[in-house]
Amino acid sequence: AEARRPPHVAMLVTPGMGHLIPLAELAKRLAARHGVEATLITFASTASATQRAFLASLPPAISSLSLPPVDLSDLPPDASIEMLMSEECARLVPALTEALSRLMETTRLVAYFADLFGADSFDAAVAAGVPRRYLFFPGNLQGLTLILHLPELDVSMPGEFRDLAEPVRLPGCVPIPGVDILSPLQDKSSPSYRWMVHHGARYREAHAILVNSFDVLEPDAARVLGRPEPGRPPVYSIGPIIRTDAAPVATDAPRAACLDWLDRQPPKSVIFVSFGSGGSLPTEQMHELALGLELSGQRFLWVVRSPSDEGAVNANYYDAESKKDPLAYLPAGFVERTKDAGLLVPSWAPQTEVLAHEATGCFLVHCGWNSVLESLAHGVPMVAWPLFAEQRQNAVMLSEGVGAAVRVPATKRKEEIAAAVREVMAGQAKGAEVRAKVATLQKAAIEGLLEGGAATAALDEVANKWTGAEHA
Ligand code: UDP
Repeated sequence: AEARRPPHVAMLVTPGMGHLIPLAELAKRLAARHGVEATLITFASTASATQRAFLASLPPAISSLSLPPVDLSDLPPDASIEMLMSEECARLVPALTEALSRLMETTRLVAYFADLFGADSFDAAVAAGVPRRYLFFPGNLQGLTLILHLPELDVSMPGEFRDLAEPVRLPGCVPIPGVDILSPLQDKSSPSYRWMVHHGARYREAHAILVNSFDVLEPDAARVLGRPEPGRPPVYSIGPIIRTDAAPVATDAPRAACLDWLDRQPPKSVIFVSFGSGGSLPTEQMHELALGLELSGQRFLWVVRSPSDEGAVNANYYDAESKKDPLAYLPAGFVERTKDAGLLVPSWAPQTEVLAHEATGCFLVHCGWNSVLESLAHGVPMVAWPLFAEQRQNAVMLSEGVGAAVRVPATKRKEEIAAAVREVMAGQAKGAEVRAKVATLQKAAIEGLLEGGAATAALDEVANKWTGAEHA
């Protein structure tokens, strides 16, 4: 009887839609292809309306449960997002152990997944007796390589990343200027830095690491990580895992007005502007961006959020809804002057549908990894405007290494913004190369996910360990 119950996996989702969406998609893929059931375990602190609606829209094979709230009131009021998520995760171990023990009794729980800040939760999986532990890394192979090397870099590298005279050279990766390294690593005395070094060491306790990237995108890093290395779990590139459902949040939601607007625009004529689920700009940059878009003479669809100086930089992370009307912060007369060329959408747009729309010709993106994968999977070339977290090092990889984006210079003047946008939309030199590269990557991304493709084969290899299936 035991063998007839479907294998069940539990996944701990650290806060942010950018973490929830790929894990939910991974669960869907495991359910559809391998007959696996999944329970997504969320933090009480992230019970936003957006998240609840998203969880409710998942297929029946995927359930969710929320862990009880934990007291974080002893942490400093300016605690970073990395510190908050890591602390919350570590403090949730007892509650998670109970939840996993219950799942061990009620389901055939075969595997536990943690995501990037969740490695401490492996303790709960061990305590509950879950047979296998996996790390789902929602970033790319470059980001994983950096984190895996941190314990060693922490000892070998004196001083701060930003003071390095030479870029950081990691095996199989494009050299990364120190200032562009993952933002929580920029101050070695900070709790975020110590947490990331700690995670880097604990990632090695996983039975395997699954990465949301694809080998054709990062061929050199894939070669390095594809070689077995003592003390390092095998690494599987199983991406791009992006959201595949048509509806943005709930299945019965009406079609967004911005898609109707896109229907009325010529093919590949619109630049889509968005900074992820949590990103917002300082007022001054928001103004330059507005004027730069206007100057570019291109059509645009911009997901506008209230500027970051109006609240904590990461405030939107825990709640995707902006608090005030973000359009009130735009330059005087901008809305009126651009009303024929541009559409402004406050706070949130159905991004994958926008990227899939034939009118979309370019994505001005913060380089959050999910957004980048969605852009590549839909063949949309990018203008890179990184803000925080791993976005700067992603921007380096995309513009210097892969050649799938043009990066806006750090000075962020309106002329520079307009030039980058024009180059990617219609430029004959760099722009043409970027557009051609993205077309190649789109093809590779799609093929990898088909029967016989690299990503499908990688996930099969992992899942066959629990299902006992041996594909030919
Ligand atoms: N997203 C969306 N609409 C928005 C903003 C974001 O659907 O207006 C989705 C986007 O498609 C992606 C995720 O939210 O799947 C953002 O993840 P990413 O890793 O790009 O950035 P983060 O939010 O973690 O900074």
